[in-house]
Amino acid sequence: MPEFIPVLTRERIEELVVGVAGKICDDYKGRDLVLVGVLKGAFIFLSDLCRHMTIPVQIDFVEASSYGAETSSSGNIKLNKDIELDIEGKNVLIVEDIVDTGLTLSYLVEHIKGFGAKTVKICALIDKRERRETDILVDYACCVVNAGFLVGYGLDYAENYRELPGIFHLKF
Ligand code: 5GP
Ligand code: MG
Ligand code: MG
Repeated sequence: MPEFIPVLTRERIEELVVGVAGKICDDYKGRDLVLVGVLKGAFIFLSDLCRHMTIPVQIDFVEASSYGAETSSSGNIKLNKDIELDIEGKNVLIVEDIVDTGLTLSYLVEHIKGFGAKTVKICALIDKRERRETDILVDYACCVVNAGFLVGYGLDYAENYRELPGIFHLKF
């Protein structure tokens, strides 16, 4: 049985989400903003984040996968679902659960730019830098974690544990 080591409590996540929502609202005040959540992992983060926003936003989703049941990125990004909104000339903030190698986001940033977005920035709940393979910059990171495979608050292991309210290091 794997061990679940607590990393972030539900209360700590709430504080982090409120903080980052405030920063985003300050920066985008008076401008349009489209939040693009990366399914499935970011579904809880995006839903909490948008409810702490004090500026109007539009919301869309992409679904990208590279992991399968493994715990490290294959680097082969598969786009299972594309955006549906017209984002030409819009400010886009990609909302991701966790950035690890950065391969998924490098792909998605270029993909979103390809639709003619005016600006494309990145917000991630967790910036995990240990295995970074790209020079991708996370514009809004709630929390930096150095190592470990995390589950909970949307993050899965083989589609399990997404429903946990806190975040845990899954130790095999
Ligand atoms: P990257 O392409 O940056 O290596 O990884 C992107 C995706 O891999 C993330 O969006 C996330 O879905 C998944 N991922 C990366 N690290 C972890 C982790 O520690 N736990 C879980 N559950 N997924 C992760
Ligand atoms: Mg993700
Ligand atoms: Mg996953």
